[in-house]
Amino acid sequence: PLMRIDIISIFPGYFAALDQSLIGRAIADGLLDVRVHDLRDWTHDRHRTVDDTPYGGGAGMVMKPEPWGEALDALLASRRDDGRLRPSGQGTVRAQEDAASSVTVRREQADGSAPLPVLVVPTPAGIRFTQAMAEEFASASGLAFACGRYEGIDHRVIEWASDRFDVREVSLGDYVLNGGEVATLAMIEAVARLVPGVIGNPESLLEESHSQTVGGLLEAPVYTKPAAWRGLRVPEILLSGNHALIAAWRKEQSETLTRSRRPDLLDGH
Ligand code: SAM
Repeated sequence: PLMRIDIISIFPGYFAALDQSLIGRAIADGLLDVRVHDLRDWTHDRHRTVDDTPYGGGAGMVMKPEPWGEALDALLASRRDDGRLRPSGQGTVRAQEDAASSVTVRREQADGSAPLPVLVVPTPAGIRFTQAMAEEFASASGLAFACGRYEGIDHRVIEWASDRFDVREVSLGDYVLNGGEVATLAMIEAVARLVPGVIGNPESLLEESHSQTVGGLLEAPVYTKPAAWRGLRVPEILLSGNHALIAAWRKEQSETLTRSRRPDLLDGH
């Protein structure tokens, strides 16, 4: 596989969605190696407890550090030896057994040692996820996601992991979700479609909103047949066959749209 992605969550079922569509095909074709792990596999009590009350008081529960520590130990060990996590994940996305080919062991840091795998920790208190970040993750040597729930993960886990992983606390946007699973799905989709071969026609990646070729701006509106529909006509210029004019029209539309909806994207242009 070109990319191995590990996900640790107490709701592995969320990731069944990765079996669908283009990502599902990429997994089936062996381009992506997605492994979903249930955090509760690293608990040792009868109730498989992953949370406890917060120090300092306040509402809600906090994820205990011990199961996370063991899960991340297993992740690191799996990079070192046979590429398989123990206990093996029981996620709905099938684990690929072709462990030795994990990209994580192939690339090296400047000093010759293996690079730290990227560990993404979704949190509304993180740095905002962007297309640029997706592009960076798409070329990472290994990618793992730690999905928080409740009020989040005991912060010592992040501290401890920072010496062993390239830890990224990332927010999907300025709103609060119930857990890191949906944020992780969104990020994986954005990253995976940049992995060579996942999208059939790589040129379609070039013209999209936020991509460098449109200068990081929003994409112009798109149309298909019929040319007239419910009294509405497709902009004539798109029917003209004049590629230079069409490109100029799209550029102008793209700028107008960005100015009205996302003026922040125009900074630096
Ligand atoms: N107490 C946390 C705070 O105020 O920052 C919010 C916890 S939230 C209810 C539970 C989990 O959902 C978080 O640990 C994180 O994994 C995930 N989450 C919520 N909103 C998110 C967002 N905007 N981006 C990424 N992850 C998010």
